[in-house]
Amino acid sequence: MISVRLQGSSRNFTVGKIVCLGRNYAEHIRELGNETPEEPVVFLKPATSLIRAGEKIVIPPYARECHHEVELAVLIGHYGRNIAASAAYAHVAGYGIALDMTLRDVQERLKKKGLPWEIAKAFDTSCPISDFAPRERVADPHDLKIRLWVNGELRQDGHTGQMIHRIPEIIAYVSAIFTLEEGDIILTGTPAGVGPVRGGDRIHAEIEGLGVLDVGVE
Ligand code: MG
Repeated sequence: MISVRLQGSSRNFTVGKIVCLGRNYAEHIRELGNETPEEPVVFLKPATSLIRAGEKIVIPPYARECHHEVELAVLIGHYGRNIAASAAYAHVAGYGIALDMTLRDVQERLKKKGLPWEIAKAFDTSCPISDFAPRERVADPHDLKIRLWVNGELRQDGHTGQMIHRIPEIIAYVSAIFTLEEGDIILTGTPAGVGPVRGGDRIHAEIEGLGVLDVGVE
Protein backbone atom coordinates (compact mmCIF):
# COMPACT_ATOMS: atom_id res chain seq x y z
CA MET A 1 0.00 0.00 0.00
CA ILE A 2 1.32 3.45 -0.88
CA SER A 3 0.38 6.27 1.46
CA VAL A 4 0.89 10.01 1.98
CA ARG A 5 0.99 12.01 5.19
CA LEU A 6 -0.86 15.03 6.47
CA GLN A 7 1.53 17.39 8.32
CA GLY A 8 0.99 17.61 12.06
CA SER A 9 -1.17 14.50 12.11
CA SER A 10 -0.57 10.81 12.57
CA ARG A 11 -3.12 10.17 9.86
CA ASN A 12 -1.90 8.40 6.72
CA PHE A 13 -3.91 8.30 3.53
CA THR A 14 -3.64 5.23 1.33
CA VAL A 15 -3.35 6.58 -2.19
CA GLY A 16 -5.93 5.46 -4.71
CA LYS A 17 -5.80 7.16 -8.07
CA ILE A 18 -3.93 10.28 -9.11
CA VAL A 19 -5.99 12.41 -11.46
CA CYS A 20 -3.93 14.94 -13.41
CA LEU A 21 -4.90 18.05 -15.34
CA GLY A 22 -2.98 19.08 -18.43
CA ARG A 23 -2.88 22.55 -19.99
CA ASN A 24 -4.19 24.46 -16.99
CA TYR A 25 -1.86 27.49 -17.15
CA ALA A 26 -1.98 29.73 -20.25
CA GLU A 27 1.77 30.46 -20.39
CA HIS A 28 2.58 26.75 -20.29
CA ILE A 29 0.11 26.02 -23.11
CA ARG A 30 1.92 28.66 -25.20
CA GLU A 31 5.43 27.34 -24.45
CA LEU A 32 4.49 23.88 -25.78
CA GLY A 33 2.54 25.32 -28.73
CA ASN A 34 -0.68 23.58 -27.68
CA GLU A 35 -4.23 24.76 -28.21
CA THR A 36 -6.21 25.93 -25.20
CA PRO A 37 -8.81 23.22 -24.58
CA GLU A 38 -12.43 24.13 -23.88
CA GLU A 39 -12.69 21.43 -21.23
CA PRO A 40 -9.96 20.27 -18.83
CA VAL A 41 -7.43 17.77 -20.23
CA VAL A 42 -7.43 14.82 -17.82
CA PHE A 43 -5.19 11.77 -17.45
CA LEU A 44 -4.30 9.33 -14.63
CA LYS A 45 -1.19 8.12 -12.88
CA PRO A 46 -1.19 4.98 -10.72
CA ALA A 47 -0.22 5.10 -7.04
CA THR A 48 2.93 3.16 -7.98
CA SER A 49 4.24 6.27 -9.75
CA LEU A 50 4.74 8.04 -6.39
CA ILE A 51 8.09 8.66 -4.73
CA ARG A 52 8.84 10.69 -1.60
CA ALA A 53 11.32 13.45 -0.77
CA GLY A 54 14.92 12.23 -0.92
CA GLU A 55 14.19 9.49 -3.46
CA LYS A 56 15.26 9.46 -7.09
CA ILE A 57 13.50 9.75 -10.43
CA VAL A 58 14.52 6.97 -12.80
CA ILE A 59 14.16 7.94 -16.46
CA PRO A 60 12.99 4.87 -18.43
CA PRO A 61 15.31 3.61 -21.17
CA TYR A 62 12.72 4.24 -23.92
CA ALA A 63 12.87 8.03 -23.38
CA ARG A 64 15.41 10.67 -24.35
CA GLU A 65 13.85 13.74 -22.74
CA CYS A 66 12.32 13.90 -19.25
CA HIS A 67 10.77 17.20 -18.20
CA HIS A 68 9.91 18.58 -14.76
CA GLU A 69 6.41 19.99 -14.16
CA VAL A 70 5.76 21.36 -10.65
CA GLU A 71 2.10 21.22 -9.63
CA LEU A 72 -0.17 21.95 -6.69
CA ALA A 73 -1.53 18.59 -5.46
CA VAL A 74 -4.95 18.30 -3.80
CA LEU A 75 -5.50 15.39 -1.39
CA ILE A 76 -9.11 14.17 -1.23
CA GLY A 77 -10.33 13.47 2.29
CA HIS A 78 -13.94 12.45 1.68
CA TYR A 79 -15.70 10.20 -0.81
CA GLY A 80 -17.85 11.93 -3.41
CA ARG A 81 -19.26 11.79 -6.90
CA ASN A 82 -20.93 14.55 -8.90
CA ILE A 83 -19.62 17.00 -6.29
CA ALA A 84 -20.96 20.54 -6.73
CA ALA A 85 -18.26 23.20 -7.11
CA SER A 86 -19.80 25.03 -4.15
CA ALA A 87 -19.25 21.96 -1.93
CA ALA A 88 -15.85 20.97 -3.34
CA TYR A 89 -13.53 22.32 -0.64
CA ALA A 90 -15.27 20.16 1.99
CA HIS A 91 -13.86 17.11 0.17
CA VAL A 92 -10.26 18.37 0.39
CA ALA A 93 -8.00 17.10 3.19
CA GLY A 94 -4.93 19.09 2.26
CA TYR A 95 -2.52 20.52 -0.29
CA GLY A 96 0.94 19.41 -1.31
CA ILE A 97 3.69 19.74 -3.88
CA ALA A 98 3.93 17.25 -6.75
CA LEU A 99 6.09 16.81 -9.82
CA ASP A 100 4.39 15.51 -12.95
CA MET A 101 7.54 14.10 -14.57
CA THR A 102 6.93 13.80 -18.30
CA LEU A 103 8.81 11.98 -21.04
CA ARG A 104 8.38 14.80 -23.51
CA ASP A 105 9.77 13.08 -26.60
CA VAL A 106 7.55 10.05 -25.99
CA GLN A 107 4.52 12.26 -25.30
CA GLU A 108 5.07 14.27 -28.51
CA ARG A 109 5.24 11.06 -30.52
CA LEU A 110 2.02 9.75 -28.94
CA LYS A 111 0.21 13.07 -29.35
CA LYS A 112 0.95 13.13 -33.08
CA LYS A 113 -0.58 9.69 -33.43
CA GLY A 114 -3.56 10.52 -31.20
CA LEU A 115 -2.54 7.77 -28.76
CA PRO A 116 -2.84 7.75 -24.93
CA TRP A 117 -0.04 9.35 -22.88
CA GLU A 118 0.41 6.86 -20.03
CA ILE A 119 3.85 5.57 -20.93
CA ALA A 120 5.05 9.20 -21.03
CA LYS A 121 3.38 10.23 -17.77
CA ALA A 122 2.60 7.30 -15.47
CA PHE A 123 5.86 5.33 -15.26
CA ASP A 124 7.41 4.36 -11.90
CA THR A 125 8.93 7.41 -10.11
CA SER A 126 7.02 9.87 -12.35
CA CYS A 127 5.23 11.47 -9.39
CA PRO A 128 7.46 12.79 -6.58
CA ILE A 129 5.21 14.13 -3.82
CA SER A 130 5.53 16.03 -0.52
CA ASP A 131 3.61 15.66 2.71
CA PHE A 132 0.32 17.56 2.65
CA ALA A 133 -0.59 20.71 4.58
CA PRO A 134 -4.06 20.44 6.13
CA ARG A 135 -6.69 22.42 4.23
CA GLU A 136 -7.48 24.55 7.29
CA ARG A 137 -3.93 25.90 7.24
CA VAL A 138 -4.15 27.18 3.65
CA ALA A 139 -6.21 30.37 3.49
CA ASP A 140 -6.41 30.52 -0.31
CA PRO A 141 -4.91 27.74 -2.51
CA HIS A 142 -5.12 30.16 -5.45
CA ASP A 143 -2.82 32.71 -3.85
CA LEU A 144 0.44 30.75 -3.63
CA LYS A 145 3.80 31.14 -5.36
CA ILE A 146 4.83 27.90 -7.06
CA ARG A 147 8.49 27.49 -8.03
CA LEU A 148 11.02 24.88 -9.10
CA TRP A 149 14.81 24.88 -9.29
CA VAL A 150 17.18 22.42 -10.99
CA ASN A 151 20.71 22.38 -9.52
CA GLY A 152 19.97 25.75 -7.90
CA GLU A 153 18.74 27.41 -11.12
CA LEU A 154 15.18 28.77 -11.02
CA ARG A 155 13.25 27.17 -13.90
CA GLN A 156 9.55 27.58 -13.02
CA ASP A 157 8.24 30.67 -11.26
CA GLY A 158 4.45 30.78 -11.26
CA HIS A 159 1.45 31.53 -9.11
CA THR A 160 -1.54 29.29 -8.43
CA GLY A 161 -3.82 32.25 -9.21
CA GLN A 162 -2.84 31.70 -12.89
CA MET A 163 -4.79 28.43 -13.19
CA ILE A 164 -7.41 28.40 -15.97
CA HIS A 165 -9.67 25.89 -14.16
CA ARG A 166 -9.74 26.42 -10.39
CA ILE A 167 -9.92 23.75 -7.71
CA PRO A 168 -13.72 23.77 -7.08
CA GLU A 169 -14.42 23.55 -10.80
CA ILE A 170 -11.76 20.83 -11.23
CA ILE A 171 -13.26 18.71 -8.43
CA ALA A 172 -16.76 19.14 -9.88
CA TYR A 173 -15.56 18.16 -13.37
CA VAL A 174 -13.40 15.23 -12.28
CA SER A 175 -15.94 13.80 -9.82
CA ALA A 176 -18.56 13.62 -12.57
CA ILE A 177 -16.22 11.17 -14.36
CA PHE A 178 -14.42 9.34 -11.53
CA THR A 179 -15.83 8.73 -8.06
CA LEU A 180 -13.41 10.42 -5.68
CA GLU A 181 -12.31 8.53 -2.59
CA GLU A 182 -10.27 9.33 0.48
CA GLY A 183 -6.61 9.20 -0.54
CA ASP A 184 -7.14 10.17 -4.17
CA ILE A 185 -4.90 13.00 -5.36
CA ILE A 186 -5.56 15.63 -8.02
CA LEU A 187 -2.65 17.36 -9.79
CA THR A 188 -3.75 20.78 -11.02
CA GLY A 189 -1.36 21.45 -13.91
CA THR A 190 1.97 23.20 -14.28
CA PRO A 191 2.98 26.81 -14.85
CA ALA A 192 5.45 27.81 -17.59
CA GLY A 193 9.15 26.97 -17.52
CA VAL A 194 9.13 23.20 -17.96
CA GLY A 195 12.38 21.71 -19.18
CA PRO A 196 14.64 18.67 -19.21
CA VAL A 197 16.45 16.97 -16.34
CA ARG A 198 19.36 14.55 -16.55
CA GLY A 199 21.02 11.92 -14.40
CA GLY A 200 22.64 13.51 -11.33
CA ASP A 201 20.36 16.60 -11.31
CA ARG A 202 18.85 17.84 -8.06
CA ILE A 203 15.29 19.19 -8.16
CA HIS A 204 13.96 21.54 -5.49
CA ALA A 205 10.33 22.66 -5.55
CA GLU A 206 8.41 25.01 -3.27
CA ILE A 207 4.82 26.10 -2.95
CA GLU A 208 4.32 29.02 -0.60
CA GLY A 209 3.06 27.89 2.79
CA LEU A 210 3.08 24.17 1.91
CA GLY A 211 6.77 23.40 2.31
CA VAL A 212 9.43 22.07 -0.03
CA LEU A 213 10.13 18.95 -2.07
CA ASP A 214 13.65 17.76 -2.91
CA VAL A 215 14.38 14.80 -5.18
CA GLY A 216 17.25 13.66 -7.35
CA VAL A 217 17.49 12.12 -10.80
CA GLU A 218 19.28 8.79 -11.03
MG1 MG B 1 1.42 18.26 -15.75
